Amino acid sequence: MSITENKKNGNTPAIDAGNIKLAQAQSYNNLIKGNSNWVAERVKEDPEYFTKLAQGQHPEVLWIGCSDSRVPANEVTGTKPGEVFVHRNIANVCVHSDMNMLSVLDYAVNVLKVKHIIVAGHYGCGGVAAALSNKQFGIIDNWLRHIKDVYRLHANELDRITDEKAKVNRLVELNVTEQVYNLCKTSIIQNAWMDRTDLQVHGWVVDISTGFIKDLGVSSSNPHNLGYVYEFDNVEATAAH
Ligand SMILES: [Zn+2]
Repeated sequence: MSITENKKNGNTPAIDAGNIKLAQAQSYNNLIKGNSNWVAERVKEDPEYFTKLAQGQHPEVLWIGCSDSRVPANEVTGTKPGEVFVHRNIANVCVHSDMNMLSVLDYAVNVLKVKHIIVAGHYGCGGVAAALSNKQFGIIDNWLRHIKDVYRLHANELDRITDEKAKVNRLVELNVTEQVYNLCKTSIIQNAWMDRTDLQVHGWVVDISTGFIKDLGVSSSNPHNLGYVYEFDNVEATAAH
């Protein structure tokens, strides 16, 4: 029976293991089974859970994190569906010409009115490590260029670190910090600061080896640290101090 037929009959969709490798079928079917279990658990806890969830979202947090499978926003922060609006890409880069990121940012700031935007990197980030190397990896090299630019900005500090793992992890921190500044330089954030004082941008790193989050202490709620050329007119006068 096909997936479509299964859906029509209201059964749990399953793919035919006879047509593909068994392991591949299992990893797919485990997702469907996991979903059924998750739904059952939620409904057991609260029969109205999905009725309430379907009414809309009011998250107070935008999470911009790495695509790495080990750093899911909800799990590492102990939050539930509906609490965190999420954007993820390789090495949590915030590029001011990335329409995907800008669209998420604009919606989060101007429609959802989130109060906290968190750029969340993680130690041992493969994207950051790749950016530190001289190897070619394909089209991703163009994306990693943004992290190489962060390296260039902080080369004096990074070149003094001889341990390769420590160097990657320090660049992870510096990359998060620069992406926080990149967000603050956008017209979206600066215009929001002209209207309200309850929007903060933060930089975090998740330590996968312990699970704990490190706050890098670079939180911003005004444009003062950006450098004069990045501040738009009238923002400084109204932004929170
Ligand atoms: Zn990563």
